[in-house]
Amino acid sequence: AKSKGKSAYAHFTPEMTEVSQDRLQMESRLRRALELKELELNFQPIVHTDSGNLCAVEALLRWRNPAMGLVMPDRFIPLAEDTGLIIPIGEWVLEQACQAAVRWKAVTGRDIGISVNVSPRQFRDPGFPDAVMRTLADCGLAPALLELEVTERLILDNSIETAEILRRLDRAGVRLSVDDFGTGYSALSYLKSYPFDTLKIDKSFVQDVMKEPEDASLVKAIINMAHSLGLRVIAEGVEEEAQTHFLKQEGCDFSQGYFYSRPLPHQKFEEWLESNER
Ligand code: C2E
Ligand code: CA
Ligand code: CA
Ligand code: CA
Repeated sequence: AKSKGKSAYAHFTPEMTEVSQDRLQMESRLRRALELKELELNFQPIVHTDSGNLCAVEALLRWRNPAMGLVMPDRFIPLAEDTGLIIPIGEWVLEQACQAAVRWKAVTGRDIGISVNVSPRQFRDPGFPDAVMRTLADCGLAPALLELEVTERLILDNSIETAEILRRLDRAGVRLSVDDFGTGYSALSYLKSYPFDTLKIDKSFVQDVMKEPEDASLVKAIINMAHSLGLRVIAEGVEEEAQTHFLKQEGCDFSQGYFYSRPLPHQKFEEWLESNER
């Protein structure tokens, strides 16, 4: 589909023109986003479900463009993947995220993990594992404090390379998690052969846990399955107190969502951190 993409521009129909031009314009803007310092990370706490205490932080990318305003990742990550721009952008994210974790350690004296989203294209880039190791070494961050989040889409390709890279990162002590767990239409067998540490239950299941008995059953089943495989579980999209009681009762290790905090710009996050430390 990618090689077709290019030639498609050569014979677009009038209806396509507008869409393609929007896309081309966005692409040329995204190309310059890094050098113009238009990208920034927001940080969202991941807490221990039992205590509500901070455990780790997920880095979430934002793009602030003068012409387009604040652009959310769902609008530009796919484009970044298609164009390969995700490689330099992803390296920047990793670097910023690791530096932030080192700063929080200096401020709080505590080990606070940092979770970084990695898209399939980025993960399959031959330079990826080395870039991760180099970044950790340059920042002086312990590998166990970095968690890389990948989706089941990545595992679906079932390639030897993917398995190899996962094992390499695992051996280096980096943590690995399955993001959006339950949405990938994937067989579960990969969980026993790949070195994952954590499952993140997709927010679509967590959101209706108090309203839909089926969702409650699914969440319980995922927690039990994960624990019996030696994996930890994070519930995503926790917005209400009632959900926290349910998750506590079911033994969900960690929680993340607006109930605890929205993703915050670094300054705001550090304020949150200070008030959380008291
Ligand atoms: P994700 O990794 O599943 O991230 C969680 C998304 O849920 C975030 O959306 C977050 O803001 C949102 N969220 C957190 N708590 C709640 C809640 O309580 N309720 C609801 N309704 N939503 C909540 P965001 O920041 O728009 O990111 C969207 C997706 O973009 C992410 O989904 C991730 O797949 C991707 N993404 C974000 N940053 C990066 C990045 O640096 N690299 C790559 N490759 N992908 C990224
Ligand atoms: Ca994620
Ligand atoms: Ca591991
Ligand atoms: Ca997710």
